Amino acid sequence: MFSYSTITQYHNDLLSGKYSCTDAVQYYLQKIKEGERLNAFVEVFAEEALHIAAELDKNRKAGRSVKKLHGVVFAIKDVICYKGHKVTAASKILKGFESLFTATALQYLIDEEAIIIGNCNCDEFAMGSTNENSAYGKVLNAADETKVPGGSSGGSAVAVQAGMCMLSLGSDTGGSVRQPADFCGIVGIKPGYGRISRYGLIAYASSFDQIGIFGTNIEDIALTLEIMSAPDRMDSTMHQVPAPRYSEYRSTDKKYRMAFLKQAIEHPSLDKENREKILMLKEELSDDGHTIEDIDLDLLDLVVPAYYVLTTAEASSNLSRYDGVRYGHRSAVPTDNPEDFYKNNRSEGFGAEVKKRIMLGTFVLSTGYYDAYFSKAQKIRRLLSERINEIFQDYDAVLLPVSPTTAFSFGETDKDPLSVYLADIYTVFANLTGIPAIALPLFSHSNNMPFGVQVLCNSAQELTLLTLSDMLMNRKKRALSEPE
Ligand code: GLN
Repeated sequence: MFSYSTITQYHNDLLSGKYSCTDAVQYYLQKIKEGERLNAFVEVFAEEALHIAAELDKNRKAGRSVKKLHGVVFAIKDVICYKGHKVTAASKILKGFESLFTATALQYLIDEEAIIIGNCNCDEFAMGSTNENSAYGKVLNAADETKVPGGSSGGSAVAVQAGMCMLSLGSDTGGSVRQPADFCGIVGIKPGYGRISRYGLIAYASSFDQIGIFGTNIEDIALTLEIMSAPDRMDSTMHQVPAPRYSEYRSTDKKYRMAFLKQAIEHPSLDKENREKILMLKEELSDDGHTIEDIDLDLLDLVVPAYYVLTTAEASSNLSRYDGVRYGHRSAVPTDNPEDFYKNNRSEGFGAEVKKRIMLGTFVLSTGYYDAYFSKAQKIRRLLSERINEIFQDYDAVLLPVSPTTAFSFGETDKDPLSVYLADIYTVFANLTGIPAIALPLFSHSNNMPFGVQVLCNSAQELTLLTLSDMLMNRKKRALSEPE
């Protein structure tokens, strides 16, 4: 019977003949079918995945050496281009659009013999925190189907949570990998800005966007990150320094210097139980011999406004290409007036949240308001980066919550849309400053929903992030195996 824990275990089992890649793909296709009501997938590439699996099995049995991701089953978010496959950013405006090329990061996985099983649901153009803003309808959280999976990469998170694939890709502009990982009880990493090529990722806010990875363990995430971090001349914002071999990180008993953001832990929006568990972790880490200190970030309440001013400004420009001429839906309403033509195409094609953000972004960039909003937000971004530089002179990592609460109920956020934006308070910081961050599923709430902790490291310090995450995940494993 097929079962999965890590890529290493899977490869050992394949090589010992316990099962085949075809068995693995069949297993996941069955899981996808059983969980169809969760609505995690927009499209499943069943035949193609089975065909690739059969090829891989044939080659392996013929004695060919296996590549690093041989037969590893991935799902991707509907914002990542895969040649010959539809990509729609969960929007009506891109209905039926087929990718003309494959995103570089995805190509690197395929080159290592990964199998792509399907395309996952998400918030339209990756704008949202609940996956309720999708042209394909909402995604259900497999831990409790009355709850949202988080967003915007909700489908990718549920695909891993419900065991429908081994790993998946999402995108994270302001928390869209870390927050759904937190709501679904899995690991989600947002690498630092420039670590992974953005070529072939549909843009939301280009100076924030990064492809991220969902998985169940650090080992798998490290290998996937290593493969995706290879250089790409198609993305000039990538780091020029080559990435270290992340898969060679080793568990250590190193004592770290970790900072807890005082304003984050004390924030009134943080659920009481979430706070208690994080404070308990803080004490335990100190008992383990790590240096733990509280630090200040007076700017915390400014991060959400700065994020929404800057990202909507970038979105209003990025999304101007969907005009019904170059890309996108074309309205059937006849008109000779070019302005009406664009208006009809875009009004019919975009959903409410995307329209709201385009208008907001256009407003903050307009001549009369540019200085009042856009310039000010840029200044805040600069101040945050300066503060981050100071913090990482003294600490290896910063720990904070991922989200103020566990997963919301459906519809809960409609009553107060601003509260959804404010719930991004802990995640947008890493995108504003471009540093790597990870969500680790360490806790369980008395409402039975998972949640965890977020770890941030300095720019280009993904290796430290992974080693430290490994330590935190191992602590949890040990605690679970110890009798009370
Ligand atoms: N919740 C954030 C937003 O709505 C995150 C989006 C993202 O990371 N793509 O913008």
